[in-house]
Amino acid sequence: MPDFDLIVIGAGVAGLTAAQVASRHGLNVAVIAPSGPGGQIVNAERVENFPSIVPAIAGHELGTLLFAQAEAAGAQFMLDTVEGLDIDGIDRTVRTSAQTLSAGAVIIAAGSTLRMLGVPGEEKLLGKGVSHCASCDGPLFKGREVCVIGGGDAAFDEALTLSSHAARVTIFYRGETARAQQHLRARAAETRNVIVESETLVEEITGDEAVAAIRLRNAKTGSTREQKINGVFVAVGLDPATAFLRGVLALDASGHVETDVLMRTSIAGVFAAGDIRKNSVAHLAAVAGDGATAAISAYRYLKGRG
Ligand code: NAP
Repeated sequence: MPDFDLIVIGAGVAGLTAAQVASRHGLNVAVIAPSGPGGQIVNAERVENFPSIVPAIAGHELGTLLFAQAEAAGAQFMLDTVEGLDIDGIDRTVRTSAQTLSAGAVIIAAGSTLRMLGVPGEEKLLGKGVSHCASCDGPLFKGREVCVIGGGDAAFDEALTLSSHAARVTIFYRGETARAQQHLRARAAETRNVIVESETLVEEITGDEAVAAIRLRNAKTGSTREQKINGVFVAVGLDPATAFLRGVLALDASGHVETDVLMRTSIAGVFAAGDIRKNSVAHLAAVAGDGATAAISAYRYLKGRG
């Protein structure tokens, strides 16, 4: 007998929804995650687009609610880091830093890790003015000059959060147009202390004990300039957290897990949900939907019906 019917790897929106739905179907479910509930959403100061949650709540509150709902349904939560997944016949074994657990089925919902910009000074000054979390570090920049790097939803969200702390927030993005949603771009345009600069590349972040300046290059003309700055918030996208799955199941070129519409991966009894999977739109409602689909697919698989 396996230790659990189902092991869910990851406790973000997809993983916790999967755990809740699978538990309600009567499965004995463990959720394994290296940190508390919520995944990337804990970094969001305001969640405005989760169905039925009005008015907006903080990301960590949404994580707590999803966790409580999954736990009330019967899921068991374990704080641990998954290091490997072994497949042997119908046995699925999850290796963590502390133990080895078996399950009839596994849902991979380990999400993403924040991408680094990859410029000189970034790593050295991480935590000394370079940050990935406006809601955590924004208050440290009261009345100061900060910038956000990136042109996606996360960058505009971060900038809007920072605008209530910093004196001025400049969003630098490399393309001609930002890919952030229209309503976020409109809010940034309406916010007095948010400035948006397109076609601007960051070449270096400088400073000794703390960030002092950034060196910028205009993508069109090639001209460079230095700008004094106190904080640099990097929001240049996410990479799937699939290092532990290489060689185990099919991943696409960018490392996302290949699934079909039922969230089935290339291995029977192993499912993937959320922004770890190929073609995820990474929207909260969609990743919750992935979690529910994966849970029902896992249930049907375990009952011999899928
Ligand atoms: P994203 O949509 O992939 O955008 C990444 C941004 O960073 C793009 O502007 C990209 O530029 C830029 N970039 C990537 N690598 C770079 C580099 N090395 N140097 C400079 N710029 C670089 O990532 P995201 O904003 O983190 O969003 C991830 C997902 O979460 C998306 O699906 C998004 O919709 C979702 N999300 C939603 C919300 C919300 O609904 N409020 C909030 C946050 C995130 P290019 O465009 O030129 O490639």
